[in-house]
Amino acid sequence: MKLQTIVVKIGTSSLTDAETGNLAISTIAALVETLTRLRTQGHRVILVTSGAVGVGCGCLGLQERPRTLAQKQAAAAVGQGRLMRVYDDLFATLKQPIAQVLLSRSDLVDRHRYINAYNTFAELLRWGVIPIVNENDTVATEELRFGDNDTLSALVASLVEANWLFLLTDVDRLYSADPRRDPNAVPLDRVSNLEELEALQIGSAGSTWGTGGMATKIAAARIATDTGVRTAIAAGRQPNNIEKILQGAAIGTQFEARDRAVNARKRWIAYGLVPAGKLYLDDGAVKAICEQGKSLLAVGIAAVEGQFHSADAVQLCAKNAGGVEVARGIVNYAREELDKICGRRSEDIAAILGDRGAETVVHRDNLVLVTG
Ligand code: GLU
Repeated sequence: MKLQTIVVKIGTSSLTDAETGNLAISTIAALVETLTRLRTQGHRVILVTSGAVGVGCGCLGLQERPRTLAQKQAAAAVGQGRLMRVYDDLFATLKQPIAQVLLSRSDLVDRHRYINAYNTFAELLRWGVIPIVNENDTVATEELRFGDNDTLSALVASLVEANWLFLLTDVDRLYSADPRRDPNAVPLDRVSNLEELEALQIGSAGSTWGTGGMATKIAAARIATDTGVRTAIAAGRQPNNIEKILQGAAIGTQFEARDRAVNARKRWIAYGLVPAGKLYLDDGAVKAICEQGKSLLAVGIAAVEGQFHSADAVQLCAKNAGGVEVARGIVNYAREELDKICGRRSEDIAAILGDRGAETVVHRDNLVLVTG
């Protein structure tokens, strides 16, 4: 088999016993064995693990997941070290070196830090280390955080140009409805287009201690497959299924990836940056950027929403198609300036703003189409 870059995400519900909240040691040991085997075969492996908050709560004897951000952050600070100790003990038994990588959402927004993170992962993988990633919960802010590790793992998979993302969870695959509540729920083995899922009532509830649910997994699959990463949702209690899936077994729900069409910088614009506003485009502008590969000009903007500065990321939405997002890009003007120039021709901008600004509002080099 061709050597692959594999990102595996495991959720709190798989790492802990639902009854006691204690660590599910046999699951973790099986995961460690599987990942070490994959490493020994020459694959590059990254583990994204949840559980810091859950383990921290266990250490502190809390009976339920804390509600305030400060409490969650404090619990994560208690649990992260314990969690890593367990991983380090088990991986060390198999002589597999690991590394702790704690990422904040803001690390991916900043282009230099994004590239830095890429370089660090590349070096660790070259050394044969398994990086173990979690959100840097202790310093994350309410406004700027991944919030769930499904999203984090998809962004990491995109960053490192992974071949595969495995989302290990407490159900064995995706169903057309929540199988715990609906006996008619049908299993979904293969998803070639995420739009197929839109009509389904997929349960969004997470577990007691974790954060995500099926909705965040599907959102993660969208990011991953859109950036060229094949994605599978599979049972966390049987980590060795990863090897079977890699060998072609139809286990779990597998999502086909799109071609990795856009370059690394555009992937960063699409998913690393956090959009700060929305520009609503008229039909002509939507056609120009979506079909003709053109830049966005002020004349095609019908309305503006949000507070942003120049060089921030914005969503470009089709005004006459219910405001659906069609592209993302880096904007050349601040909100206040756009209020004055939207709908106006480029040659009038200098007179309106009293200064000759950029000819385009979003240059096509800084613009990425959002595939539906
Ligand atoms: N970062 C959180 C933790 O380690 C997990 C977030 C999630 O459950 O997705 O507890």
